[in-house]
Amino acid sequence: MDPLEILTDLENVVPFFQPIFSADEHRVIGYEVLGRYVSKNAVYSLGPFFQDDQIPDEYKFEVDQLLLKQSLEKALELDEDVYIFLNRTADILMYENGETFLNELLSYEKKGMKLGRIVIEISEQNYKGDLDQFDHLLQYYRTYGIKIAIAKIDSNSNFFDRIGQLEPDILKINLQILKSSINGVAFNDVLYSLSLLARKIGAALLFENIEQDYQLQFAWKNGGRYFQGYFLSEPNADFIHRNFMKEKLKEKFHEFISYEKKKLGLFYEKAEFFQLKVQELVLKNKKTSYEELFQSLMKEMDQIAFRLYVCDEDGFQKSPNFFKGENGWLIQNEYVHKNWSWRPYFLENIIKMRNERKGILSDLYSDIETGETTRTFSYPINDNDFLFMDLSYQYLFEHDELL
Ligand code: CA
Repeated sequence: MDPLEILTDLENVVPFFQPIFSADEHRVIGYEVLGRYVSKNAVYSLGPFFQDDQIPDEYKFEVDQLLLKQSLEKALELDEDVYIFLNRTADILMYENGETFLNELLSYEKKGMKLGRIVIEISEQNYKGDLDQFDHLLQYYRTYGIKIAIAKIDSNSNFFDRIGQLEPDILKINLQILKSSINGVAFNDVLYSLSLLARKIGAALLFENIEQDYQLQFAWKNGGRYFQGYFLSEPNADFIHRNFMKEKLKEKFHEFISYEKKKLGLFYEKAEFFQLKVQELVLKNKKTSYEELFQSLMKEMDQIAFRLYVCDEDGFQKSPNFFKGENGWLIQNEYVHKNWSWRPYFLENIIKMRNERKGILSDLYSDIETGETTRTFSYPINDNDFLFMDLSYQYLFEHDELL
């Protein structure tokens, strides 16, 4: 589409609205405004126009303002708790120090559009201006109740920095982009970290570009509070009924919940299996030395575990490692007296095991030495000694409730 054609034919520039649904109510909670150009009965996205570096900010700003007016005018007919998501690059927001944009918003506030309903989706793509000034502007907007969403992930390190600095209200995650920018194995872990970070800073996760069933499930499972994408609803010139997807979402969630509950049930059964098995071996070897306990563990857990050791309550290792290499079990004495209290959840788990007198099957993580995905079953032998048993990937693979 020729930019000049668009600029000389502004009456055919119109906003489209893509609904955003919530996980807690299963109904429409907002719309993202997307620019469209209508020509000869075809509808074109204005995305390429806004991304074109050759087009001066002045023109982009003009088109943006036009879309803003049209969409806010139309949004006056919405319920008063429906959010309006506006895409803005840092350059365009900083244009005229952001004043014209804010004044337009304020004029609609007088007509009944509360500014707390406005969410600005920021993209800092290629922004070369002063970041401090930009952040200052955003803080100023926030004093009016305007919300901030971060959407673009250009480089991951920068993304995490900016999340920390801006503390956005919403993190918008594009599953397609994220997946292509991070290698497959780390993808789930990065997403998991994002969901933890979002929780810590009180930001909601919005997953966009949901196009298939499994992506919705993925978003739900990873703490997504808001969903958007063709699977739910495409962008339209008009608003849709708020309960448009309510039944379908309820049905889908029911499937996701059942599946997850079943998986968790099997996981707890597995944890119980380890509890009983280890308890039995510990009791059997109660009167003897740990040497004999390890002998029977190596025998019984030969196809299950690849590392065994005992620590005291402060995390100092009291035994060597019993490690299963390619040629069978071997003893690694160099691990005696090492301290593991610095590892995440270590002390929490010690206290939990001691209080509940029960073992714990850990979450999935990568072993720092072998690099393989593992879980650890830890078990309180008595008030001072705790057994740790790292499970082999092969075993996890064969029991997929553990993966
Ligand atoms: Ca967007």
